[in-house]
Amino acid sequence: MGEPSRPYVVCPVCGHAFRATYASTYVTVGREADLCPKIPGRPSDGARLIRSAVTMCPVCSFAAGEAFDELDLTFDERYGIEERLKEDGLLKVFRKGQPPWLGFHAAEVCGKERSLRSRELGDLCLRASWVCRKEKERPFESTFQLRALRHFMRSLQEDDLIGRELSVTTYLVGELNRRLGNHREALNWYVNAGRTTEGDPRVAWLDRLIDRQSKLAREQAA
Ligand SMILES: [Zn+2]
Repeated sequence: MGEPSRPYVVCPVCGHAFRATYASTYVTVGREADLCPKIPGRPSDGARLIRSAVTMCPVCSFAAGEAFDELDLTFDERYGIEERLKEDGLLKVFRKGQPPWLGFHAAEVCGKERSLRSRELGDLCLRASWVCRKEKERPFESTFQLRALRHFMRSLQEDDLIGRELSVTTYLVGELNRRLGNHREALNWYVNAGRTTEGDPRVAWLDRLIDRQSKLAREQAA
């Protein structure tokens, strides 16, 4: 496991300079069925590594998955982000307590203003749900799964996904439905996902996953 680098970064919204922890590479031992990486060691250590995928300004709560110095925000974006961060209900309640999912939530709030694709917004929420599971924050895990599901559904309509990204996103809509208890809905989406892979050998792993999770959803639906 590499030591995370801690460069100084400047918040592109409020100008505060602080040391950020950028994601280091980490060892995984496979993935769970919603693609959450299995990381050796304590679940909270794994949660910390997943969390390092986003950086959050400790002063204004601006957050993003990208390195801050790569962001080039317009005046209007900065203003819009400030307003959203000030008005956000969850941030008002949880800013002080800094729960482990907060950075992903803030990155989603800011991402909407930055016009990120629904696929990216869904990915932030999916990662938040992984962190919640590893930290045993059950109600918040479901909250973020539902948000990820909605973003991914919108992404399938709006983002012109192709290839592997289309297949994985469709599969995740199935898997998130299954985890939220919508087993029949999940089965339909697994079928849709299977249609998108068309026996492509590069996504054979996904075909196997679709088979396995469909069986599980059928048992759960019965
Ligand atoms: Zn800031």
